[in-house]
Amino acid sequence: MTKHRCLSQCLLWILFPPSFVYTLSTNHPNVVIFYADDLGYGDIEPYGHPTSSTPNLRRLAADGLVLTQFYSAAAVCSPSRAALLTGRYQMRSGIYPGIINVKRPGGLPLNEVTIAEMLKPEGYKSAAIGKWHLGLGNNSMYLPPSHGFDVSLGLPASPAQCRCSICFYPNVTCHSAPCHSDEYTPCALFNGTKIVEQPVDLLTLDEKYVAEGRHFIRENVKSETPFFLYYASHHTHQPQYAGKETSGTSLRGRFGDSLAALDWEVGQIYQELEENGILDDTFFVFSSDNGPSLSLNTFGGNAGPMKCGKGTTYEGGMRVPAIIHWPGRITPGRSFEFSSTLDILPTIASITKAKLPAVTLDGYDMSPFLFDGMHSVRESFFYYPPNVNTEYKSYAVRYKQYKAVFYTQGSRLSNRMNKDVDCRGSTQRTYHNPPMMFDLEQDPSENYNLSTKHSPEKDIVEMIIQMRADFDARMVFAQSETRKPKDDSLMPCCNRGCIPFPSCCHCIGNTSWKTPTLLDSDEKGF
Ligand code: MG
Repeated sequence: MTKHRCLSQCLLWILFPPSFVYTLSTNHPNVVIFYADDLGYGDIEPYGHPTSSTPNLRRLAADGLVLTQFYSAAAVCSPSRAALLTGRYQMRSGIYPGIINVKRPGGLPLNEVTIAEMLKPEGYKSAAIGKWHLGLGNNSMYLPPSHGFDVSLGLPASPAQCRCSICFYPNVTCHSAPCHSDEYTPCALFNGTKIVEQPVDLLTLDEKYVAEGRHFIRENVKSETPFFLYYASHHTHQPQYAGKETSGTSLRGRFGDSLAALDWEVGQIYQELEENGILDDTFFVFSSDNGPSLSLNTFGGNAGPMKCGKGTTYEGGMRVPAIIHWPGRITPGRSFEFSSTLDILPTIASITKAKLPAVTLDGYDMSPFLFDGMHSVRESFFYYPPNVNTEYKSYAVRYKQYKAVFYTQGSRLSNRMNKDVDCRGSTQRTYHNPPMMFDLEQDPSENYNLSTKHSPEKDIVEMIIQMRADFDARMVFAQSETRKPKDDSLMPCCNRGCIPFPSCCHCIGNTSWKTPTLLDSDEKGF
């Protein structure tokens, strides 16, 4: 904390009792959502990985609440982000099937209400930093500025959807094949709707993100404005990358280096909150959009004890790490309460007193178990696959500790040679009648099917069958935004019209925009 800030804070404490200040400040707490990409349940220290180095997440977990039964609404990137930001299953906003390709003109519809838009009438400023993946569209119409974000800096999708060459300091080429594809333009960094760097330098990208995020926090503290920071890191989606700080530092190889870069980003944002004395006034959520990409072998993540990974409706695809941090409001520890990314928007509405969007929501306020020592309101969760359609709808339903599985299917994202045949992309959709049944509290790995004719759980199975039929019958599928015809001209290019397209799009230093730098933006450096 600076001397100036300390003086003003101390004066406030003298003039008003701490309890009064607390009441005032918590009416509009700041909100930070730090979203990792393809980070598995078993990848980080607080969830037991033996060789990952994530000291900042370890600290966040030590002072926060580690959720062990938390679900992303989808097993791949775009739909899980749509669900997080709208509090609605992805079909309602058209972010299905699969993900959004930058060559397709679709995106998160502009009439969907995001957390940023929900908070705007309460006086919040919002920033989206990092990966967007909810559409680019004609004239960048789907980027964060169209969805309530006042500040944004990031890539429209993961670096896997653009050309890249150097991923590890000082000069190691990227590992994954899409990066070397001639099909895409070089990665473009957008500030708002303008390209400010192309190709992007992956070795310094995290520094730019962190500098922008810290600057955003600092500016809002100065102007006493409540803020929402949505920081969506690229780590640990392929291609793994790491700059000078973390390259070559991990026992866990290149994935570990990339994970260490993610942890560094978390630490930087945490440090800015700490230095400004606002940790106690910030609701901080850390989670991941989906399970690990097992197809990448050691370059992918780890689902811990969960079955399969990314792209599947097994636990490994959708149960993700989640840490909630709010000193003074949330008691540190572990929570076995059942919740989802769908619940984040209603929870933020509850703690900020913001008005909920007037649409069908699929989330529940998590406040009872986060703040009041009660149980989660959520009792059920529906697992929709990446290739969801109106014929098959949900593949599985969780009710309390039970998971009834109606369909199973493998995914290429969980490795075509996975030792568990169920996970492989070659394993086709299979219908289970009666549904398989697992007690996830006793068997999180989905090993022991309880569904037999004489099972004592037979009544529960019948109840879940009815629950699924009712919910799926009411599910409204919006028009798909992800399957609109491809158009190569939509790929981001700073010098449109150049040849040979798409490789010719280069604009380094050809801009008046300047990112805050880590050293000169901080009052005393660090
Ligand atoms: Mg992802």
